[in-house]
Amino acid sequence: MTDPQRGRPTTNAMRRALRRARDGVTLDRAEAAVLLQARGEDLKDLAASAARVRDAGLDAAGRPGVITYSRKVFIPLTRLCRDTCHYCTFVTVPGKLRRAGHGMFLSPDEVLDIARKGAEAGCKEALFTLGDRPEDRWPEAREWLEAEGYDDTLAYVRAMAIRVLEETGLLPHLNPGVLTWTDLQRLKPVAPSMGMMLETTATRLWSEKGGPHHGSPDKEPAVRLRVLEDAGRSNVPFTTGILIGIGEDHEERADSLFELRRTARAYHGIQEVIVQNFRAKPDTAMRGMPDAELEELAAAIAVARHILGPSARIQAPPNLVDAEYALLIGAGIDDWGGVSPLTPDHVNPERPWPHIEELAARTAESGFELRERLTIYPEFIRRGEPWLDPRLLPHVRALADPETGLAKEGAIPAGLPWQEPDEGFTSFGRTDLHHTIDTEGRTGDRRNDFDEVYGDWEALREAAAPGMVPSRIDADVRQALGQAADDPTKLTDDQALALLHADGEALDELCRIADTLRRDVVGDDVTYIVTRNINFTNVCYTGCRFCAFAQRRTDADAYTLSLDQVADRAAQAWDVGAVEVCMQGGIHPDLPGTAYFDIARAVRERVPDMHVHAFSPMEVVNGATRTGLSLRDWLLAAKEAGLGSIPGTAAEILDDEVRWILTKGKLPTATWLEVIRTAHEVGLRSSSTMMYGHVDQPRHWLGHFRTLARLQQETGGFTEFVTLPFIHTNAPVYLAGIARPGPTDRDNRAVTAMARLLLHPHITNIQTSWVKLGTQGAAEMLRSGANDLGGTLMEETISRMAGSSYGSYRSIQDLVAIADLAGRPAKPRTTLYGEVPAERVAAAEASDGHLPELLPVLEG
Ligand code: SF4
Repeated sequence: MTDPQRGRPTTNAMRRALRRARDGVTLDRAEAAVLLQARGEDLKDLAASAARVRDAGLDAAGRPGVITYSRKVFIPLTRLCRDTCHYCTFVTVPGKLRRAGHGMFLSPDEVLDIARKGAEAGCKEALFTLGDRPEDRWPEAREWLEAEGYDDTLAYVRAMAIRVLEETGLLPHLNPGVLTWTDLQRLKPVAPSMGMMLETTATRLWSEKGGPHHGSPDKEPAVRLRVLEDAGRSNVPFTTGILIGIGEDHEERADSLFELRRTARAYHGIQEVIVQNFRAKPDTAMRGMPDAELEELAAAIAVARHILGPSARIQAPPNLVDAEYALLIGAGIDDWGGVSPLTPDHVNPERPWPHIEELAARTAESGFELRERLTIYPEFIRRGEPWLDPRLLPHVRALADPETGLAKEGAIPAGLPWQEPDEGFTSFGRTDLHHTIDTEGRTGDRRNDFDEVYGDWEALREAAAPGMVPSRIDADVRQALGQAADDPTKLTDDQALALLHADGEALDELCRIADTLRRDVVGDDVTYIVTRNINFTNVCYTGCRFCAFAQRRTDADAYTLSLDQVADRAAQAWDVGAVEVCMQGGIHPDLPGTAYFDIARAVRERVPDMHVHAFSPMEVVNGATRTGLSLRDWLLAAKEAGLGSIPGTAAEILDDEVRWILTKGKLPTATWLEVIRTAHEVGLRSSSTMMYGHVDQPRHWLGHFRTLARLQQETGGFTEFVTLPFIHTNAPVYLAGIARPGPTDRDNRAVTAMARLLLHPHITNIQTSWVKLGTQGAAEMLRSGANDLGGTLMEETISRMAGSSYGSYRSIQDLVAIADLAGRPAKPRTTLYGEVPAERVAAAEASDGHLPELLPVLEG
């Protein structure tokens, strides 16, 4: 398609690509690369079709003929950075800052001074721009943060964003560079939007010596794409974009745009895309490089518009375009980005922003009206939760026009408290769901926001496809069985995989080997615990695609228990012999950061000897990020409040490839491990779990077992491993046609047996779940390596909402009967597998079988 003589596309290729753009046909990468080279008349043709796409999008958004901008101040929190991009003039070094009489960071007074002046001038956005984690490179930055009492740069960003909200009312937009999933959780409650330019997907510009991104760890395209994905998963309205003319070729530029489209489609979280042109700066390594021409920029904008479609918001910074406003409007932009009447563009200081009046006049010349927007786009304000944290709602409402979602005419920001919502623990909704799920059932098989909260199902289907291909089994099963019987700790990965695929007689033999090992290690007792599950809320916006429990606040099945109701349930459980309450809930945006401490305390105050087994790693991260505490400090505080151990749930499959299909906003594998490791280190033991039978494969189970075994060798903190067969009936990922309908009987037996063998000798208790497998199924697992039946539960909502048909309560007699079926004795245990006091055993036996009458449903 390219004319080799001139390195330009052939006339035919250009004509064909232009026609397809004109006809609104989806472009492929090669066509996009051709169109990026359109100039002169070709560019006019391309721009005209792009502008039509933009106009259709503005019509659909309810603001035809409007081009937006955000009135902002620029807060360069620190100009130190651990990266060394060769074109950057923003970055500096500690010596220079010192010589100029500046601190390593702007002081709080300096930050607030800028923000206050901005508020007075009618600005509504505080754009925090700063270098990437300067403390990793500069001791001076580290010392400054330590002296001021901040763990890291992001802790300072968070604190300053809160002060700006509280003291000036400006809305922070955070640009702190590469962020991890946990960083995004930490910052989301303090900023309605965040951003990071993708710049380019051309890895060679980063990996090759002399490339503009060489030596800058945060500029690796894969790292930056991961940030975009994590932002989408975390429901953060996100600004990103490409930087053109830094040495990428047209294919690479096209590829960057397609990657942006992929992420935007998958999570619907990209609120705007900036197409920015490289401008050489005199004092940088790339000073000799020619500036990207404006026609080149216009072509990139038009191609971006065609690729990203009418609903994308596309922006070009007006101070970098040499007053060629008409050219860029004509190419399909609909936003000028942030413009400041007050502060310079610290990234491009040589190029002042135009006066807003001038920008309005020039925009009008192209037939458009310039309107002010907020840093968060109207579409995201309208979506509300989970895109806008309830703590930011008052600040956004004060400045947003209720009709359009754009900035309210003439509004002057004023500081408002940044605080937890008041409604946190109000008893609300269907608080009897744990009971009525069995009598009345669910109100509907899916939540109201089924099409929105889980991301794009079609994009997911493509991602899930490769995971569906079964792996090959190379090893000989006979030989692997021999090794398993001899010494399972020496099973190779190939042998283990072969056994995970075992069927028929080989599977029978595998289960016999696991059963023998079980007997040798823990004896014949089938243990169980008298416990009550308390799911204190089912309101959750995380978007786990396997979860049928989570409800939107306004769904008919949504509920939240009050603290009193939680304590009442714990007290009732104690009366009927429980030694433990197991408490988990949704990630409810209204629950205050200290909610988990309050819940543990409420139980322990009412029932001092009750063991509190509570809060999944996802809830731990939520608590820590909301309170601004480190994981360790949060866990210590929770322990202090009465937490006894944590469930190792939220593990699903510890493989990010599978996790991202299965969950949307949940914590990554590395963070799950970090939470569990830290919990074990502070003396909070945990269970471990695996949910299987959805989009996973035996190789994922193997990896999961190996990961758990390694961590157990390190900490010794796991009490048990719990197998959790996927319940498909109401699971969104199944309803969308992506997941399998749960594991087969074969899968259940193979997983249980291999858990016994692969976790040996590190984790000795293997639990099977009667809730998910029923009586016969659980007995079968007891013959395949399991030794524990879990709890009596008393109430259970999560599996029941997913469609499990095995009820919410099993009496001790029921559990004894399951053990009996396996020909073994049953024995009660505590959470940590200790002896149960005689008085507890007596209380449990006295009430056994009558719980539904003894534990009347607590009405809201
Ligand atoms: S599994 Fe937990 S975090 Fe995920 S959606 Fe369900 S309730 Fe929310």
